[in-house]
Amino acid sequence: MFLRVRVVQKYGGSSVADAESIKRVAKRVVATKQLGHDVVVVISAMGDTTDELMDLALQVTPQPPPRELDMLLTAGERMSAALLAMAIADQGLHARSLTGSQAGIITTGTHGNARIIDITPGRITKALDADDIVIVAGFQGVAQDTKDVTTLGRGASDTTAVALAASLGADYCEIYTDVDGVYTADPRIVPSAQRIPEISYEEMLEMAACGAKILHLRCVEYARRERVPVQVRSSFSDKPGTWVRDPQPVDPDAQPDPEGAPVEQAIISGVAHDRGEAKITIVGVPDKIGEAARIFEAVAATEINIDMIVQNVSAVATSRTDISFTLPKTDGVTAITALNALQEEVGFTDVLYDDQIGKVSVVGVGMRSHPGVTAKFFSALAAANVNIGMISTSEIRISVVVDQDDVDRAVAAAHTAFGLDATEQAVVYAGTGR
Ligand code: ADP
Ligand code: ASP
Ligand code: MG
Repeated sequence: MFLRVRVVQKYGGSSVADAESIKRVAKRVVATKQLGHDVVVVISAMGDTTDELMDLALQVTPQPPPRELDMLLTAGERMSAALLAMAIADQGLHARSLTGSQAGIITTGTHGNARIIDITPGRITKALDADDIVIVAGFQGVAQDTKDVTTLGRGASDTTAVALAASLGADYCEIYTDVDGVYTADPRIVPSAQRIPEISYEEMLEMAACGAKILHLRCVEYARRERVPVQVRSSFSDKPGTWVRDPQPVDPDAQPDPEGAPVEQAIISGVAHDRGEAKITIVGVPDKIGEAARIFEAVAATEINIDMIVQNVSAVATSRTDISFTLPKTDGVTAITALNALQEEVGFTDVLYDDQIGKVSVVGVGMRSHPGVTAKFFSALAAANVNIGMISTSEIRISVVVDQDDVDRAVAAAHTAFGLDATEQAVVYAGTGR
């Protein structure tokens, strides 16, 4: 019996890098539609277009007004959406492209990092009822108050896709990219990484939060909250990819996935890295109740998300202490400006900034029941001659800050130490890794 499903497919930038790729993606979309399904496509800008537009803006001014930057960047997704609709029309089917605003994606007004607050998908459902394929420009929406165009943060077309899947009651969301799924580490750094056939929302959330850019963090948050099953797979192959969903009941008759990582193992399910953070150290903070609160309130007021925090033991002689924390590099200037404004009031000595760092994390629910994970991780780093700068842990994760030049070595060392290396090499089909 035929089962008609409603599916949201998202194609990333490297899958639509040029005209030929757009035609290839159109074929995939058309094939799904011809099976009789309802298809909504979310599309990213072609190749490195977003980076190129950003570079262009920076050539015009060192500080582009955020509203105008969003106007500029959203153009990238509009282009690819229109081109894909044309390519589908050329293959004989009806497709309608919509901007985020036209698709009813209502957001907060924070330019560059807006959040979806509501979706009114009337135009999409109407088009689906008319049996059209709908193509939505990713990573953008419209601010509820100002009606200005907003963007949802770098890599956020994933989030557009899952949010639409939830709002449209889609059966699942497919994220098409340039690798065959979620791997035990970034295959660009660890060629012996293994594809993970199934991963829980919880672990994927932790991987994404630790910098695994295969999925945008808020996309995973959305998927978990709305229980949207997400399949990550390559637009360049027909391999099965990775399911991100609630753990499935074990089917005794199921065939094991011959190429996937063994399901039984996994103290650690993956190693993630992040080169997008910087470290700020506030030197000589008076060791009095409430000072740390004032500092972090000032940073929070700028809407910056800070990550790891370390406070040193205060020196007895001075009753002063140093506080370090990490934050996205892109927020560095804002944070330093806010802290400098606070210096006199709180009376700390200095603010230091270091963006030559990287974060390496091991993630896995198996950690809960296996002691010794930290020891193994740290010994592997020591053997690879990697110095640890900061440490933080959660129930299912251990993260360290290391020198930026040590990141690749640290990831590879941890991957090997936890027995994750495969004998075969992972395929990276496209993309510049930018
Ligand atoms: P897209 O343009 O399709 O959104 P991205 O570049 O955002 O693609 O994400 C895909 C890339 O994520 C891969 O090419 C890979 O280099 C990187 N990556 C990082 N961590 C992982 C991981 N654990 N598994 C697979 N890919 C990963
Ligand atoms: N084009 C945007 C970016 O490069 C959004 C995305 O691809 O998800 O960040
Ligand atoms: Mg992406």
